[in-house]
Amino acid sequence: MERVALVGFGIAGASLAATAPEGIELVVYDVAGPRCSSRVATGLVNPIVLKRRRVVWRAVEALKVALRTYPSELHSSGPIYEVLQTVQELNDWQALSDHPALGEFLGEVTPVPQGIHGVGLGKVRGSFRLNVIGFIEHTRAQVEVWNEQVNEIEANAGGSWTINGQERFDRVILAEGYQARWAEHFWGPLGFARTWGQGLHVHLTAEPGVMLHRSHFLIPEPNGSYQLGASFGWGIDHGDQDPPRALADQTEELLNSARDWVDGRIEVQGQWTGIRPNTLDRRPRWGWHPEHATLGMLNGLGSRGTLHAPLLAQELWAAR
Ligand SMILES: Cc1cc2nc3c(=O)[nH]c(=O)nc-3n(C[C@H](O)[C@H](O)[C@H](O)COP(=O)(O)OP(=O)(O)OC[C@H]3O[C@@H](n4cnc5c(N)ncnc54)[C@H](O)[C@@H]3O)c2cc1C
Repeated sequence: MERVALVGFGIAGASLAATAPEGIELVVYDVAGPRCSSRVATGLVNPIVLKRRRVVWRAVEALKVALRTYPSELHSSGPIYEVLQTVQELNDWQALSDHPALGEFLGEVTPVPQGIHGVGLGKVRGSFRLNVIGFIEHTRAQVEVWNEQVNEIEANAGGSWTINGQERFDRVILAEGYQARWAEHFWGPLGFARTWGQGLHVHLTAEPGVMLHRSHFLIPEPNGSYQLGASFGWGIDHGDQDPPRALADQTEELLNSARDWVDGRIEVQGQWTGIRPNTLDRRPRWGWHPEHATLGMLNGLGSRGTLHAPLLAQELWAAR
């Protein structure tokens, strides 16, 4: 049995646990708290960059592994729909459905529900919403999790590791999210361009009942309310900070952009913020350390953690 320490149990850590091969004893160190991005993520698994009408990096293979890894009872029942507001947009959507790469994900156009301004809804094939916390909890039940901060990682002769001066492991995998203290300690700067996001819980007079995207996402919740968001903010210079407090101007911006396509009253019931582990080149960081073969990392999942985490977790294990 190989004893492996996993530092961090957001979507990256949980995916590593869910895809771990036989013969591994996994011990997880995770403090969760406000710095865990996965606990505030909406959980959309979306193979398309809707604003740019582009397929996401490695979307086809990532989606296949995500579907195998996430239990189907934790998926939303329906896909995301893009709100098409003009006949031109509708024609473009239909024309792009013949595109060799994008076409696979651009589904049929369906009528717009009451209360939404548009000429049609374009279905994003393959998209769904994952209950992220549900997945983390489901996976947590299968591994040993210690609610302990990792403050010390020491390399021993022979390739093993000691964590916090006590526990010995054959391998260590870092899945720390935007904080990335240990990943940057061993690898050096990872090229983060962290962003923060603000989302709103809203009550609507119009109730579309499906997941919509236009300027932002509008997502129905099981309790009848909706999530609207999330915004993008910069100015997160290092990993050692908590998400900023919600800002009134971000709230206003989200509401104003929604008013372009949602009729009726939009009543804010709550708001939340989180930090995304984005990188400058928009690529994740994963692999084994060039000098310490028993030290691995999965990070830099940016805004697409739910889509990419299972594929990259699987690849990390395969490369060990
Ligand atoms: C508002 C918002 C909405 C989003 N919506 C979506 C979405 O719809 N779809 C999507 O795919 N992505 C979304 N994202 C992005 C998504 O949240 C991230 O891609 C993903 O959560 C990153 O997961 P992770 O496991 O790498 O990091 P995290 O989820 O942050 O997990 C890292 C964990 O490691 C722990 N940790 C770190 N260092 C230590 C240490 N030294 N000792 C012990 N524990 C430690 C942390 O406390 C944390 O619990 C959203 C992000 C935000 C902010």
